Amino acid sequence: MINLELPEKLEGLSQLMRAVAENVMRPVSRKYDKQEHDVPVELQVLDRRKQAGGRAANVPGRAADGGDEVKNGANLASVISIEQMCWGDVGLMLSVPGAGLGNAAINAVATAEQKERFGTVYASMAITEPASGSDSGSISATAYLDGDEWVINGEKIFVTAGGRCDTVVVWATLDKSRGKSAIKSFVVPKGTPGMEVVKLEHKLGIRASDTATILFTNCRIPKDNVLGSSEISEGGKREAFGKVMQTFDNTRPGVAAMAIGCSRAALDLTKELLAQDGLTLNYDKPIWDASAIEAEMYRMEADWEAARLLVLRAAWMADNGQPNSMEASMAKAKAGRVGNAITLRCVELCGSVGYSEDTLLEKWARDSKILDIFEGTQQIQQLIIARRVLGLSSTQLK
Ligand SMILES: Cc1cc2nc3c(=O)[nH]c(=O)nc-3n(C[C@H](O)[C@H](O)[C@H](O)COP(=O)(O)OP(=O)(O)OC[C@H]3O[C@@H](n4cnc5c(N)ncnc54)[C@H](O)[C@@H]3O)c2cc1C
Repeated sequence: MINLELPEKLEGLSQLMRAVAENVMRPVSRKYDKQEHDVPVELQVLDRRKQAGGRAANVPGRAADGGDEVKNGANLASVISIEQMCWGDVGLMLSVPGAGLGNAAINAVATAEQKERFGTVYASMAITEPASGSDSGSISATAYLDGDEWVINGEKIFVTAGGRCDTVVVWATLDKSRGKSAIKSFVVPKGTPGMEVVKLEHKLGIRASDTATILFTNCRIPKDNVLGSSEISEGGKREAFGKVMQTFDNTRPGVAAMAIGCSRAALDLTKELLAQDGLTLNYDKPIWDASAIEAEMYRMEADWEAARLLVLRAAWMADNGQPNSMEASMAKAKAGRVGNAITLRCVELCGSVGYSEDTLLEKWARDSKILDIFEGTQQIQQLIIARRVLGLSSTQLK
C-alpha cells in the first residue's frame, strides 16, 4: 500500500465522511437494500441544502469559492467525500438530499445568474431514453420555444433520484435533424404541469437509490431555464455538444470514486474475516513467501490503489481548469472494472460467508455493478480514451 497522504484539509473531510458512513449509513445499509423505494429518512440530517445555508453543495464542480487559484478544490473534496460515503453505502450516498447528478450539471455549465437561482435545488439528470443510452447524441426528447417558454416533450428512463429530487435537468433537442449541436439541457422543477414520474425501477443493486421514468408532455418552463446558450451553432457542432458533455468531466471521477469506496469496503471486510481465520496480511513479508490468498489480496490492493490515483488526478485536473475528459474516462474505466472485480472476488474468497446475507459482501458485489455502467459504460470509456489517444473523432471511431 502506498498510503498516499492527503492535505490536512482533505484528511479532515475524509475522516468526517467516514464517520458519516460508519454511523449513519452502515447501520441502515441492509434495511434499505430490503425496503427498496422507502425513503431513507435517516439521511435527512445530511441534507446538503440545509447544511450549506440553503445552497446545494459539495457536488462535483468548480472551486467552491469560484476563485481561479485552486489547487485542491471542490472536485477533489467531492471525490474524497464520495469515496468515504460509498465505503458506507453507494445507494444511500446517491440518496443524500441536495446532491444529485443534475447539481453537477448546473455547477458545470450554468451561468452565474442560473447558479444563484438553482443553487438551492436537488437536481437529478435525465439523459437516457428508451431508444438512446450510450449514444447520448441520439436523444429524441424535444424542446421548442413558444413565446417566453420552452415546451418539452419526451420520455426519460433510469433517472437516479428522479422520484425524490425537486428538479430535473433534462436533455432535449431543439431540432433532431441538426444533430448534436441542437441538444441542450433544461432545468425543469418538479410540479411543473406536464411532468410526471410514472415508474420506479426494481434493481440488482443500489436499491436504496430511486431510479425513475419521467414523462414530459407539453411541459412548459421559463425561457431562461436552458443551461448555456440556446443557439444551434452551425460550424461548432462539437463545441456546442461539448458544453453539455462537459458535465461528464466532473461527474465521471465522482462515479469512479463510488467504485473506489465500495471496493475498499469489500477489501477491508475480507481482511477482517481472513484475520478471524488466522490469516493477517503482512506487507513486510517477501512476496515469494506469500500464500495464494495473500498474493491475491496484494494484487487487488495494488489495482485499487492505481484506480484511486487516477480518480484523484482527474478531479485535481478539473479543479485546476485543465481539460480532463480523457483522464476522467480513464478513472471511470479503471475504477469501474476494478470495483466489479474486487467486490466479486471478495465474495469468492470468503466462500459461503461472502455469499450469505450475514455480511454485506454480497450486497457490495451487486451495488458495484452499476458503477461500470452508468455515466458511460466500460466500453464507452475505452472508446473515448482510444479516440483521444489516436486523435480520432467520434465519426472516425464508433
Ligand atoms: C441504476 C441506474 C441508474 C441510472 N441513472 C441514470 C441517470 O441518473 N440519468 C440518466 O440519464 N441515465 C441513467 N442511467 C442510464 C445509464 O446511463 C445507461 O444505462 C447507460 O448509459 C447505458 O445505456 P443503455 O442501458 O441504453 O445500454 P446500451 O447503450 O444499449 O449498451 C448496451 C451494451 O452495448 C455496449 N455498447 C454500446 N455502444 C457501444 C460501442 N459504440 N462500442 C462498444 N460497445 C458499445 C455498452 O457498453 C453496453 O455494454 C441509469 C441506469 C441505471 C441502470
